[in-house]
Amino acid sequence: MSKTLAVNAGSSSLKWQLYEMPEEKVIAKGLIERIGLNDSITTVKYAGEKEERVLDIPNHTEAVRILLDDLKRFNIVKEFTEITGIGHRVVAGGELFKKSTLLSPKVIQQIEDLSPMAPLHNPAHVACMRAFDKVLPDATGVAVFDTAFHATMPEKAFRYPVPNKYYDEFQVRKYGAHGTSHQYVSQEAAKLLNKPLEETKIITCHIGNGASITAVDGGKSVDTSMGFTPLGGIMMGTRSGDLDPSVFPYLMAHDPSLKTSQDVVDMLNKESGLAGISEISSDMRDIRDGRKAGNPKAVLAFEMYCDRIQKYIGQYLAVLNGADAIVFTAGIGENAEYMREAVLDGLTWFGIELDHEKNANHVEGEISTPESRVKVFVIPTDEELMIARDVEALK
Ligand code: ADP
Repeated sequence: MSKTLAVNAGSSSLKWQLYEMPEEKVIAKGLIERIGLNDSITTVKYAGEKEERVLDIPNHTEAVRILLDDLKRFNIVKEFTEITGIGHRVVAGGELFKKSTLLSPKVIQQIEDLSPMAPLHNPAHVACMRAFDKVLPDATGVAVFDTAFHATMPEKAFRYPVPNKYYDEFQVRKYGAHGTSHQYVSQEAAKLLNKPLEETKIITCHIGNGASITAVDGGKSVDTSMGFTPLGGIMMGTRSGDLDPSVFPYLMAHDPSLKTSQDVVDMLNKESGLAGISEISSDMRDIRDGRKAGNPKAVLAFEMYCDRIQKYIGQYLAVLNGADAIVFTAGIGENAEYMREAVLDGLTWFGIELDHEKNANHVEGEISTPESRVKVFVIPTDEELMIARDVEALK
């Protein structure tokens, strides 16, 4: 019996869960939000209690210090040596990391060097790795890559049709993201289908603030919507998803506020998507309220959002030549039944039949009718459990 910490650091957040392994029992969990902004919020859930505090947390190093302090303050651990493994979610593993990897100073440096592929995330991961290593030098550190699950994509899917030298010299290709989530929900879906994973064709829709859709054939990713960075694919909370790259130079020539290519990328990452079209918010709950109130921009944002999801599902029905199941997961996928309905009611030609009552009642598991040719499931994702399992496997 040992304790393993799963760490999921975002650009301004740090989610964590402490597990008793190999029992996979969650001992405690927490979230630190608004890192680097004023009034950061730390939440700890332990033994049925929940504590929320507002503090100023300037960076991820300080966030780790507070997390570790909290583990002792709540008596969750008596000694830090009880924690024998720490798994870190890493957004970009590039071509270098195709599976979960033990941390070493060299590996941490390589992850830092991959920062251009995930400029908001990889530096945060590295800061956390170094901070934990100072306090817990004997714990087994493991990096679990969001891109690793997509390492099985065939070359025809991951290459961009640009001159070969850009792949050969600069590794420009599709890497994808949310791999641990797509992997977890596809495995769970195979159980619900009561079929060996190797015999399943599943389309997994991870629809959160960031969002991606993956075609999973026999348990392996064969295509995914995100691209070279997490900006590609479907429309997201603040990200545009796919668009014609000719828009870049055109905008830079016409909008004086866009002076550099980085300004354009920032606009597409932070001011676009639901937020850019609705001009209300990046949060689906606000878009829902805006639609109800008859705000035409919220209506358009929602229609565009569902349209992109529908089109990718359509693509992946073609890529897989049919599917056993479509899975919805993550914040919006699990909770926004009106989004699932809008998307799936437009796909009945494929034999997809939603059970509207089950869908509306926030049922987990199957939400399609017994007659539906393609099953539809809602499966809450569990990236932290996947991370803890990978640490256990490498210890
Ligand atoms: P990430 O991990 O990418 O930050 P999540 O998977 O936690 O994102 O999803 C966050 C998003 O989920 C929020 O921005 C919000 O749009 C959406 N969301 C959360 N709860 C609900 C809900 N009850 N109904 C609709 N959307 C929700």
